[in-house]
Amino acid sequence: MVDGRIGVELTVHGIVQGVGFRPFVHKLAVGMELNGTVTNSGDGVIIRLLCSEKELNLFIDTLNNNAPPLARITSIAHKIIQDLPEYVKFTIDTSISGPVRGAMIPPDIALCNDCLSELTNQNDRRYNYPFINCTNCGPRFTIVETIPYDRPKTSMKQFTMCNQCAAEYHNPEDRRFHAQPNACFDCGPHLTYHHNSQIITDDPIDAAIQDLCRRKIVAIRGLGGFHLAVDGTSDTAVAKLRSRKGRPAKPLAIMVADIQQLGEFTTISPEEQRLLSSPQHPIVLLPKPTSSVAATNLAPGLDEIGVMLPYTPFHHLLFNHPDCPQILVMTSGNLSGEPICTSSKCAFDKLNSIANSFLLHNRDIVTRVDDSVAKVMNRQPMILRRARGYVPSPISLSDQLPQVLACGGGLKSTFCLTRDRFAFLSQHIGDLFNLESLNFFSESVEHLQNVLEIKPELVACDLHPDYLSSHFAEETGLPLYKIQHHHAHAVAVMAEHGLTNEVLAVILDGTGYGPDGTIWGGEILTCDCHHYQRQGHFSPLPMPGGDVAASEPYRMALAALRTTFGPESLLPKNLPPALTSVDPKQVRLIGEMIQKNINCPITTSCGRLFDAAAGLLGVRKIMSYEGQAAMELESLAWRASKKYNLKEIADWTTACKNYQPLLEQTAPSVIATQLIITCLIEGITQGFPADQLALQFHLQLIGAVTDYVEQIRHKTGLKDIVLSGGSMQNRMLLEGLTRELNKKGFSVYTGSEVPINDGGISLGQAVIGGFSHVSSNTHASHQH
Ligand code: ZN
Ligand code: ZN
Ligand code: FE
Repeated sequence: MVDGRIGVELTVHGIVQGVGFRPFVHKLAVGMELNGTVTNSGDGVIIRLLCSEKELNLFIDTLNNNAPPLARITSIAHKIIQDLPEYVKFTIDTSISGPVRGAMIPPDIALCNDCLSELTNQNDRRYNYPFINCTNCGPRFTIVETIPYDRPKTSMKQFTMCNQCAAEYHNPEDRRFHAQPNACFDCGPHLTYHHNSQIITDDPIDAAIQDLCRRKIVAIRGLGGFHLAVDGTSDTAVAKLRSRKGRPAKPLAIMVADIQQLGEFTTISPEEQRLLSSPQHPIVLLPKPTSSVAATNLAPGLDEIGVMLPYTPFHHLLFNHPDCPQILVMTSGNLSGEPICTSSKCAFDKLNSIANSFLLHNRDIVTRVDDSVAKVMNRQPMILRRARGYVPSPISLSDQLPQVLACGGGLKSTFCLTRDRFAFLSQHIGDLFNLESLNFFSESVEHLQNVLEIKPELVACDLHPDYLSSHFAEETGLPLYKIQHHHAHAVAVMAEHGLTNEVLAVILDGTGYGPDGTIWGGEILTCDCHHYQRQGHFSPLPMPGGDVAASEPYRMALAALRTTFGPESLLPKNLPPALTSVDPKQVRLIGEMIQKNINCPITTSCGRLFDAAAGLLGVRKIMSYEGQAAMELESLAWRASKKYNLKEIADWTTACKNYQPLLEQTAPSVIATQLIITCLIEGITQGFPADQLALQFHLQLIGAVTDYVEQIRHKTGLKDIVLSGGSMQNRMLLEGLTRELNKKGFSVYTGSEVPINDGGISLGQAVIGGFSHVSSNTHASHQH
């Protein structure tokens, strides 16, 4: 070879397809005057080069350090090839299909700034084109049918590019080189507006805006599914949507034009601003607008609201219209409890009774993906619903695992697949309670297994015998590992942070099945990726009526009263004011149920403790959505924290005479949350205001848990602590615990990329299942 150059083949793994990676390689090679080829394959990107060893090192360094913004390189392998042809230039080869080992599909990305300026430039040929995109933005996961990620394998295959688009697509110097969804007015998808039996094609955006201004409900086909949109500045429009959707109080997400507009309604931190305008553009939970522009019924009783910025070109076109309302409600286009609609047919069938009209397009949505939801806590972004923009980006694991399918839980369900050292968490599937959501679940399992070419060797699921996801797992016929819910919560956080040694875990949660048949949820564990030990838990409470008690806080309030103060406490004259309006017959019945232990499962749940407190304080008797009472209690506490002197509150807290953070010397020991309830009831009797007591409740809980884990540290020497569970979505609780534990010298870890609610447990299940499988095979003592 000339100049001592050798032939080398590099294989680049990671998210390197559909993100402008080959043009980047082309540019790099041409810049370094190296000849060869770059190719997409099922195995990642393959580069063949003639170069010296020094050039090779520089080349690899540059690949690693200067890759395009959306690329995520996980490894670069190289080998010397003796008989490479004498390349005379560097070229990009068209895709070849091959055996898939390391390929990854990129997630869907919000419109980039380059495309946005073309969209709004009257001289650009894509001025106002609703489907403009490039290699740095646009649909990906939602349009992929199979791999390698290439136009004929996506729902863009039905659109043949015009000459101009094709020229961009084939030009390595162009921003749209191999942008699979590349399109324009002449050749690409388009919008239509359907109102009654009328179809409007000339200006669908204008037609939609006019209806929104008339306070109509418009169903909009988006990137990963349908939204239902209304004017978010109109109480009437929002009330209409709420009543038609049967959603009386659950907060509704809104969209506003940009950060500047948002600044007129609410205050946002720099971290929140970054999260809102990140390439993923999630819904971000922000302080509720204080201005009078926003409708008052967007998030009743709460101080937070979900906000997102426009992420598709047609969202921008809506907001660029001069008549567009300043705020649009954009809530998921589904029937209650069902997955969101993706096809126009589904929307016509199911959303007909809700929407007045339909803004549609003809680019098929292959994979349903909801909007992601995130929140800044401890000044870090935390993803609470992982879907659009994040899925299917993998989580890197510290160890290689066998290929696992983990089926998650029942609420906010997701599943997880592993391959090599990666865990692929599925998009948010929703609550798995009916056939529609189970179908979505099983279709998604199949699709993700296909596009990632994963054939699970084992399956993991929750210990709960009745979860549909557990049944699904059993039916696979693979070796099955049943994982305790809160252990899975803890290990999900451990996996995200690469923790493998034993840790302390504080899991404050709603519902999780315990191996003793009771419902766990206020749990202190010590655990690693194989095993856990229950060190302590909250005071047990009966749940009169079983599952019903989880949605009717007054039941938990009565249960807490009776458990703390005995049967007398349920006599009408002894009830706190908030419970006097409950039908006396019902109170008596609940008293008897507890006494005779009829349909009263025992729980140590933190969520139910919050419900009890909310019921006692008169915050809420009956909930219309999951978590409502706890969220309202937190909002009340925040209001109090702004009103009262925190020092005084801390003094009350310690002065509360019954409060002794507590311990019965049993194993596992009890964190006497009952004493916190005692304090609360005393406060009510003394006539303290509800907001002050709500704050006191939070502070005492933080204090009790902190004191408790300190004792466990004395016993075990562990100082790494993991915080997770649905109740930790409460900012006051999570930030308070983090602050107090940091003060005591703990290293505190919680979820950021992976939800701390039940949306994250499939990751924990996969890791525990994978490790258990490996060790049971190693010890040849298969336990299942
Ligand atoms: Zn773009
Ligand atoms: Zn075109
Ligand atoms: Fe949970």
